Amino acid sequence: MAASEVDVFANEEKRNLELGGHVGFDSLPDQLVSKSVAQGFCFNILCVGETGIGKSTLMNTLFNTTFENEEASHYEHEVQLRPQTYDLQESNVNLKLTIVHTVGFGDQINKEESYKPILEYIDAQFESYLEEELKIKRSLFNYHDTRIHICLYFIAPNGHSLKSIDLVTMKKLDSKVNIIPVIAKADTVSKSELDKLKIKVMSELVSNGVQIYQFPTENEAVAEINSSMNTHLPFAVVGSIEDVKVGNKMVKARLYPWGSVQVENENHCDFVKLREMLLRVNMEDLREQTHARHYELYRRCKLEEMGFKDTGPDSQSFSCRQTLGSLPPPTGLECSSELPVCQK
Ligand code: GDP
Repeated sequence: MAASEVDVFANEEKRNLELGGHVGFDSLPDQLVSKSVAQGFCFNILCVGETGIGKSTLMNTLFNTTFENEEASHYEHEVQLRPQTYDLQESNVNLKLTIVHTVGFGDQINKEESYKPILEYIDAQFESYLEEELKIKRSLFNYHDTRIHICLYFIAPNGHSLKSIDLVTMKKLDSKVNIIPVIAKADTVSKSELDKLKIKVMSELVSNGVQIYQFPTENEAVAEINSSMNTHLPFAVVGSIEDVKVGNKMVKARLYPWGSVQVENENHCDFVKLREMLLRVNMEDLREQTHARHYELYRRCKLEEMGFKDTGPDSQSFSCRQTLGSLPPPTGLECSSELPVCQK
């Protein structure tokens, strides 16, 4: 199509027409839903936090099941990423869930490099998605997408603030993955200490420029709940899969000589808030942000490294053929969209 022809269509005025009766395209959203349900969904959670901080217990509590997970020792020489995939079903919705544990995190004497294996793991998942995308014969439809949709960062409850390993790790990961910080084992500190710790953690994240995931407020349906939940971060959580009788009800709780901490009681901890935000309200947004923001940045940097570019020196668009024809890469590539600048 010639350039002038394109311009003619671009300037053409659109007219609103009334339909004489029902034609059927109003079923398009339903078609989308049934197609998505038939295809199933995938969701990938990365749990970052020191050994014994309560990662496995929280995962079991969140999904109300028992995932098999080997107990990690405190003597790992390096941090290892251990992914495990499960097929779950709720009503007629199938979810392929991958939980990735950071085994040995925080156990080495020198913790300077602890973030590296995590970063490499996240990039490796982006890389295999990009490889699939760039194939001539792609099968993205049934591709097992292992890109990390959410990183739950577990903060120890018994400090005065974040540790340097927490700040360094979150700072290194924040452009790669959606981070939700949680204060683990919140039943082990008093309410006033917890309130202080929450404020301190948030102010340290802000002053160090760490971008955590913000629950989106653009969609009217969830704007109110999401903006209120943004003010509760970091969530202070308690995990337990033990069923305890409280009154005449069985509830998930942790029993102590002086009483019980009920996981789903909002006066006791923020577990319900976390589950609500992560699974019931924002799961699709987390998947979308992973693709549209974090993966997009990775993809753009990779393609630039490979020599692809969208515009020439005169800001004219390149066609795909021109782009490919211009390889190997010219120098002086610049990022032009609103995404952060690629770090080479
Ligand atoms: P992981 O190594 O991070 O996966 O930690 P685990 O989930 O295996 O938990 C380590 C220990 O902490 C276990 O004895 C758990 O029962 C205990 N634990 C887990 N969650 C909590 C919690 O919310 N509060 C308290 N007090 N203990 C917890």
